[in-house]
Amino acid sequence: MLANISFDIDGKWSALKYFNIDSNPKKDEFIEKGIPKILEILDNHRIKSNFFLVGRNILNYKVLHKKIAENHEVGNHSYSHPHNLASLDENTIRLELKKTHDLIKKTLGVEPLGFRAPTYGLNSDTLKILDELNYTYDSSYIPAYYPGITPFGNLFQKRSPHKIGKIMEIPVSVHPIIPFYLNGTSIISLGMPWLRSALPFMKLSGRPLIINFHERDAIETLPKILAKQLKRSRNNSLKIIEDTIIYLKRNTKLVTMSQLVDIYNKNP
Ligand SMILES: [Zn+2]
Repeated sequence: MLANISFDIDGKWSALKYFNIDSNPKKDEFIEKGIPKILEILDNHRIKSNFFLVGRNILNYKVLHKKIAENHEVGNHSYSHPHNLASLDENTIRLELKKTHDLIKKTLGVEPLGFRAPTYGLNSDTLKILDELNYTYDSSYIPAYYPGITPFGNLFQKRSPHKIGKIMEIPVSVHPIIPFYLNGTSIISLGMPWLRSALPFMKLSGRPLIINFHERDAIETLPKILAKQLKRSRNNSLKIIEDTIIYLKRNTKLVTMSQLVDIYNKNP
């Protein structure tokens, strides 16, 4: 069974912006502390992972982002992480994507091939722009319902990787029995049993396991407002990232998203 672990690097400023709280994006403790911790774990376990990067953070933290790009696959996660990307007009979306695309190429020296939308909000304009940028994959959908984040209709979306035009859509995983997110946030909130209970059924389904964490998950104590929103009742999130990696290394074949695209293109 195939699996992929990815990291969305949003920043504390972006998480707080969701609550209309301003903070300094140039002094961001989630980025400063979170990225090195995540890179260290991945290095220790010799895992090549996917990182989805926000343009503004690349500008503010060039060295840290270069370190990411040295060993991992990097993708586009918009320029300013608008939480309402899917409801913006086409040109604003194009600007958000193009700015980060160019920054990744210029500053990090690599060509991004994939995108993840902030708060999983994707629309047809965004897909059209990804096509213009010659991207090969998108990993923005979660086929599950969560009030205020993903709409009810998501419950009926495909759960397997599938082509939308030229783009391979790689949905973030949903628990195969209880139709709720099987992502980093829910594993941290519900603990490792949430992941372990899903695996036998995921294997039966033949679908790959697509799990995304965030840099904030490497931070044990979050501001109260975020801990509440993320249903974070424990302070062992960094250990859960590592436990997830160890568990998936033992029980699945870990691949990068580009490798997954190749595999699905050959055997759809
Ligand atoms: Zn994000």
